[in-house]
Amino acid sequence: MSVEEKTKELSVYESMAARYDVAARKLGLDEGLSNYLRTPNREIIVHIPVSMDDGTLRVFDGYRVQHSIARGPCKGGVRYSPDVTLDEIRGLAAEMTWKCAVVNIPFGGAKGGVICDPFKLSTGELERITRRYTAEIFDYIGPERDVPAPDMNTNEQTMAWIMDTYSMHMRHTVTASATGKPYSLGGSLGRREATGRGCMMTADEALKRFRWHRESTRVIVQGFGNVGSQAARLMHEAGYKIIGVADISGGVMNTNGIDIPGLWKYKEANKTIKGFPNTEPIGAQEILEQDCDLLLPAATESVITSKNAHKVKAKLLVEGANSPTTPPADDILFDRGVFVIPDILANAGGVTVSYFEWVQDRQGYFWTEAMVNERLKHIMVTSFNAVVNFGDKHKVNNRIAAYMLAIDRVAFCINLRGIYA
Ligand code: GLU
Repeated sequence: MSVEEKTKELSVYESMAARYDVAARKLGLDEGLSNYLRTPNREIIVHIPVSMDDGTLRVFDGYRVQHSIARGPCKGGVRYSPDVTLDEIRGLAAEMTWKCAVVNIPFGGAKGGVICDPFKLSTGELERITRRYTAEIFDYIGPERDVPAPDMNTNEQTMAWIMDTYSMHMRHTVTASATGKPYSLGGSLGRREATGRGCMMTADEALKRFRWHRESTRVIVQGFGNVGSQAARLMHEAGYKIIGVADISGGVMNTNGIDIPGLWKYKEANKTIKGFPNTEPIGAQEILEQDCDLLLPAATESVITSKNAHKVKAKLLVEGANSPTTPPADDILFDRGVFVIPDILANAGGVTVSYFEWVQDRQGYFWTEAMVNERLKHIMVTSFNAVVNFGDKHKVNNRIAAYMLAIDRVAFCINLRGIYA
């Protein structure tokens, strides 16, 4: 779907604001406070010069939006994509504030992005973009200020460059300046799998509610990047029946189940999942409308809209991506009885283990993978139940319940701190 088509419904920031307004009204939030919390604290725009491999000089536009520091330092990913806009980063930064509050970790929200096509850049060019971007926002980041992490098209290597650039400016190594780093540079065991694992942990809780069994739960995953590929792998290992997977190049289906370890190997060798043996081809958008029990969109935003929400056949929607569903689609899904585990809950496993990584870096004491996963599970299960019980009590859907819970926690801190004059 093109950017123009996506923005026709509601932009990412508008989607966030629409849900926020419903939740804030239901909470009876003071109007002034409500306006304050809908708006980010700070928006940084940088224009970064980068020497390209062919000897030319190019300027890239980048953003870092810091939405709130009410509960602690800002936290959030940095994405690289030609589709990055300030509106998108602004919406996702606010969502990070709500996400951190839903899982009750001591951070506010931020998001960053650089407009570039990482698939058309060399490793050297990506490194220079990353270092200059970090240098430009240096004054505003750091373990106590704002801690970047991976997001769309960025990874452990990108975080190693951010941490190194920050450390070079500080004149000493500051591992807690970024999370999602390689393990040997202060990364955490389990961080790479954390978002996908968290999705599965919340799905498991929903299954308990429905009295469903993993073995008979047919799953479709849209997206085979970090979140989708890890979710598919872990869910396959746990016994779920993965019948469809899609990435940008297209999807593959087999109603008898897909060999996920085989698909991982195939993707590694062919850079695509297209043409994987023993599967039928299907479009990346069409896959959302196929018959299944659990749909896990883990690719990008605004893929479920008013145009296709009525065609979604899944009874359980687990939002691995940020903002995959638009507010008009929310209403359609709700009316049709689809149980939605909203993004700010379902995919919060990533930022939760980022928090663990930040804690470990600051203590210089590293946990075993079993400790990480056990503590992650405790947080995901507690948060799932808090959201669903809140929704049942206040007769609102899970998304509005998650927003209400989060906004209430942030507003409580602001009221305690007071407004500095
Ligand atoms: N980019 C991830 C997200 O959207 C992780 C953020 C983090 O770990 O700080 O939640």
